[in-house]
Order: sequence, then structure tokens, then C-alpha cells
Amino acid sequence: MNDLKKNALNYIDEAAGVFTGLSDQIWAEAELSLKEFHSTAVYVEKLKELGFEVTEELGGIKTSFCGSFGSGHPVIGILGEFDALDGLSQKAGSTEPDPLEAGKPGHGCGHNLLGAGSLAAAAAVKKYLEDSGLPGTVIFYGCPGEEGGAGKAFLAREGVWKQLDAAVSWHPGSANQVTTGSNTASIQVLYKFKGIAAHAAGNPHIGRSALDAVELMNVGVQFLREHMTPDCRIHYAITDTGGISPNVVQGSAAVLYMVRSNRVAEAVKLQARVDDIAKGAALMTGTSFERTFIDGTADTLPNYTLEKVLYANMEATGLPVYTPEEWAFAEALKKTYPGSGIEGITGVRHDEAIREKLSALTDGGKRAINDFLAPHYSCGDHAPGSTDVGDVSWLTPTAQISAVCWPAGVPGHSWQVVTCGKSSLAHKGMLYAGKVLAGAVIDLFNQPEVLDAAKAEFAKRSASGYVCPIEPDAVPIAL
Ligand SMILES: [Zn+2]
Ligand SMILES: [Zn+2]
Repeated sequence: MNDLKKNALNYIDEAAGVFTGLSDQIWAEAELSLKEFHSTAVYVEKLKELGFEVTEELGGIKTSFCGSFGSGHPVIGILGEFDALDGLSQKAGSTEPDPLEAGKPGHGCGHNLLGAGSLAAAAAVKKYLEDSGLPGTVIFYGCPGEEGGAGKAFLAREGVWKQLDAAVSWHPGSANQVTTGSNTASIQVLYKFKGIAAHAAGNPHIGRSALDAVELMNVGVQFLREHMTPDCRIHYAITDTGGISPNVVQGSAAVLYMVRSNRVAEAVKLQARVDDIAKGAALMTGTSFERTFIDGTADTLPNYTLEKVLYANMEATGLPVYTPEEWAFAEALKKTYPGSGIEGITGVRHDEAIREKLSALTDGGKRAINDFLAPHYSCGDHAPGSTDVGDVSWLTPTAQISAVCWPAGVPGHSWQVVTCGKSSLAHKGMLYAGKVLAGAVIDLFNQPEVLDAAKAEFAKRSASGYVCPIEPDAVPIAL
């Protein structure tokens, strides 16, 4: 590792308080998707303080922004997120469910850490560019609405990612590993049916039931399931039943649909078939409906070249070492959920040798912290969930890691994640991730041949062309 790179990574340790403080501040804000106004203000101020050139309301989204430093190519993006989840309010550091304010949001996906760790990386790369005098640009992206709203996909529609030579990101988790493989594409559309309300016994012949339309739409979609490819999924939630009175013909009712497929182009086609079923349901019931596009995300294109760069930096960066108090906290928390500590590690699902190795390292999945680096493993398999990082990955070579910020096997979107959000355990993982991302970006500035290889791989994988799941006239909606 050259001295300038070393100095840049050391900067993250020297300025650790800036980034852990930022993460804790965002943890306390805990704002929902596309409503992250306070968090955005905190970030914008911090970016300016750190000497980045800030663009606010990026892509026309109020809580979207970026901070840029440097000039010319390569232009490397580092993605940050900062939205929270509803109903997960929780006191920090407690080993039992204990809301700060019952029913309020909490950082149940660790995005307070995600954003601050990515900013730490961007600041370290900025220092490297300053010290080395190399040409190149680093851009930190404040990406809103990951949990709902698909901020990065809306930014993709606005052409934001096309200017990048590569992008990297990370996610807090319970294993130190390079994230590989793909995710499913997803699209959400809300159908609001309108009928004619009437007395259900007195004059039902006058009424036209919007709730019947919702029910018939759901029945139609059940039949559709037989005639779609096995990778597809369709989920729904009835968001308005038209009231609780059975003696009323319901004049309004609404259903929110989510379709998924392994490829975004297929998800778009499947969604159009669901639209047709809504039309059929309206026709059958004499009702009408209003269709509102909510959001959509593409599948993720992996980039094995970038994954290797990230892994090399994970190996070269010292892993966090934990105190007896941190182990005790992790042990206590691990008693509050079922599940093994290694199931979330990608290679375990696919490779028997990796499973055996990790089983030995974790004492059969019993150890409370996965305090090691998982073996390198790359694959193109689709994980069932969705992420708007996928939309970035269709427009520029993209790769991600996960770093240990909570005990082994902690379920996602849980109070346990929130309780860990301000812990020293989480801070250590965040700073580790920041150093790994910074190290990888610095390598890309120094090794144009690696960046070229990443681009060649990207060109192959994205040859079919990006189909943006966000409709042309759609606006981001905070549900
Ligand atoms: Zn999440
Ligand atoms: Zn997340």
C-alpha cells in the first residue's frame, strides 16, 4: 500500500468522531423514506464543512443531494442512504424491545451507518486526491427513499448515474463479505377503484361495489400466477376496503400491488398484465379506477472485477477487534432471536467448502459476532429481495460489501438492528467499511486497467439495455 493511500485511510481513524457523530445524529432523526428533510440538512452542512461541492435536490427530489470533489475522470460514485423504517423506535443499547416512542420510526436497516460510512470513504478519497494531485472526481450521493420510493431508480431515470465510471456502496450487516449476485426487480402500482355507494339491502341494484372490483382483481391475479415464469412474484395489500359496514355497498376501495421478476424488462411486462386485470375487474363491476405508479427497481448486475478490488481491500484493512463488553452485549442480544449466525453469508448457500469452513469458524453458527472476513465468493444468483442499487448497476459498473455492525444472524428490519445503531460494535463496522470503500476507489484511480476491465464486464452484462422501471411521468411518492 503506498503512503498516500495509507494516510488517506488513517484519516478515517483520525476523524472517526466526525463520522460516528454523524451516524448517531441520523439515528436520532430516524426519518421515513422521502421525508428525510432533517437528515438531508445535516448531510448538506457536513459535506460543505468537509469541502465538497454540494448539489441539492438532485434529480428534482427534495431530499436527494450529492457532494463532489476533484475534476476530470475517472468519476467514482459512493452511494449513501439515510432513511428509517416505521414502527421500529427503540432505545439504543437495550437488549429487549423497548421503544423510545412507541410506533415511531427507527433505523431498522442501519442506514444511519450506511450513509456516514460512505461519507467517511468519500472524505478519505478526497484527501487522497488532494495529497496525490491525481486527476479524478469522487462524488458522495445522498440517496433518499431506499426503503420506499426507490430514490436511486428515479435518479436513474434522470440520467444521474450515466456520468460515472464506477460506483461502490456497502450495507451494515452481520458478516464481513463482498455482496455478490443479483436481486429481483420490483414494481409497485396502486389501484383505487370508484363505484357507487348504496344501502346494501335497500337498493343494492343502484350500487356499484369498488370492493367487489378489488376482490375480482385479486382473483384475476391468482389465475395469472399459473401463467408467469417461476422467478416472478406478485404481492398485494388492500389499503382501503371502503369502510367496515357490511350494509353499505362500498363506493371506494384500493389495492396496492407489487410485482417482481428476475429481470426488470420482464417485471415491466408482467405489471402491464396486472393493469389489464384491473381493467377487467372494473368492467365486470361497473366501476372505474385510478392507477398510481408508486415505484420500481431493477435487478442488480454484479461486477466481479470490482468485487475482487473490494475483497482485496477487505483483506488489507484490519478487521475490528471487539472488547469483552461488546461480546457480552452481542451474546445477550443473540438470545432474543432464532437463527444461525452464518446463514446470511452468500457463499454458505452455494459452496459446501465455504459452509464447512464458516461452520468451524463460528462454532456451528453459535458465536455471537462474525469477527472474520468471509471467503471471497462471486455469483450471479438472484436473492429474493429488491434494491434500487440495481438501477445504478445497469448504468455504471457497481459493487458493494457488507460489514459487521450487529451480532451474527440478527434479522433485518428489526428492533435489534435499531438497538445496535449507536453501539461501538456498529461504529467499528462502519469505519471498517469506510476504509474498504476508500481503499477500493483509490485503487481504481491508480489502476486504469482494472477500471477498464470492470467497464468491459459491465458492457457485456448490460448489453440488453436498461429498461427503467420508473414511468416517464411518475413522481416520487412518500407513502
Ligand atoms: Zn432495508
Ligand atoms: Zn437497507
